[in-house]
Amino acid sequence: MSKHRWFQELQMKIQDGWLLLDEPLNKYTKTRLGGKADVVAAPGTIEEVQTVVTYAYEQNIPILLLGNGSNMVVRDGGVRGIVLYMANLNKIQIDGTTMIAEAGAHIIDASKEAAKACLTGLEFACGIPGSIGGAMAMNAGAYGGEIKDIITQATVMDHTGKVFVLSKEELELGYRKSIITTKGYYVLSAEFQLTPGVQCDIDATVADLTFQRESKQPLEYPSAGSVFKRPPGYFAGKLIQDSGLQGKGFGGAEVSTKHAGFIVNKKNATATDYIQTIQMVKEEVKKKFGIDLEMEVKIVGEELSE
Ligand SMILES: Cc1cc2nc3c(=O)[nH]c(=O)nc-3n(C[C@H](O)[C@H](O)[C@H](O)COP(=O)(O)OP(=O)(O)OC[C@H]3O[C@@H](n4cnc5c(N)ncnc54)[C@H](O)[C@@H]3O)c2cc1C
Repeated sequence: MSKHRWFQELQMKIQDGWLLLDEPLNKYTKTRLGGKADVVAAPGTIEEVQTVVTYAYEQNIPILLLGNGSNMVVRDGGVRGIVLYMANLNKIQIDGTTMIAEAGAHIIDASKEAAKACLTGLEFACGIPGSIGGAMAMNAGAYGGEIKDIITQATVMDHTGKVFVLSKEELELGYRKSIITTKGYYVLSAEFQLTPGVQCDIDATVADLTFQRESKQPLEYPSAGSVFKRPPGYFAGKLIQDSGLQGKGFGGAEVSTKHAGFIVNKKNATATDYIQTIQMVKEEVKKKFGIDLEMEVKIVGEELSE
């Protein structure tokens, strides 16, 4: 069946959300890279997520889940199938010390809401530009805190549209990984347990972490954050810096001169430039230190066809 046909069929089923055909993905990624998706589907309710997932399962159409696009590099040829975009599911509710946040909510907003309610535990996330779903999938963390510290459970959907709840233990959260990425589940919402805090302490922590981030990270350029995981016993950024790679790259992409762990889209880079730069960094670090850098960012989609 053609993409036009399944786009039309899905359009008839989606009322609260929206669908777009042949949609450029560079609008949705923090690197500002990526070709077109056949269809971007942004359901407005959990039932609509289920409708899209079930339809894709029955029609054998691949789905790529896109959060806030802050840890993803989409190739220049774009994505075949449906890109499921959760941005419309963005409610954050607080009841006592429990927060329930939908997958498409920004974790920065969840951190702000927690601070407003004088709850401590989410300060670490005040500058992580991901969605709740992406942060759950990656077990996002910074400055000594991570999702694993505060999560109690998550509601997820499998590729057939079945919804179920996974406890913290069942989520198998590790360093930038979880059962969400290994099994390909879709996070619908997450529940966090926070602790009553002292307002001025929370605000001071957030201000300090924001200062550290702004002074050390090249936030003025599009990027996917730290490209590589921390190899045991080392820091990826230091290995890259000591390999003399800062300022080097392909086309419009280069290893940041401010933070060697970041590759920035400095000047109209293509995804190919960005991926070649990643490859160059891996090869040079391997040559100089004998260490294989493991990717933290996910590279998805297809090469541009001739
Ligand atoms: C400037 C900058 C700073 C950053 N700083 C940090 C940091 O301090 N700490 C840190 O951990 N990360 C950091 N990151 C990386 C990134 O923000 C996190 O990994 C974030 O959690 C990714 O969330 P996302 O919604 O953007 O996910 P995306 O990039 O959209 O997707 C990442 C992965 O998660 C999956 N995914 C997304 N949503 C869902 C869902 N609802 N259900 C299932 N799977 C899903 C995707 O399919 C993909 O495999 C930074 C990135 C940038 C650009």
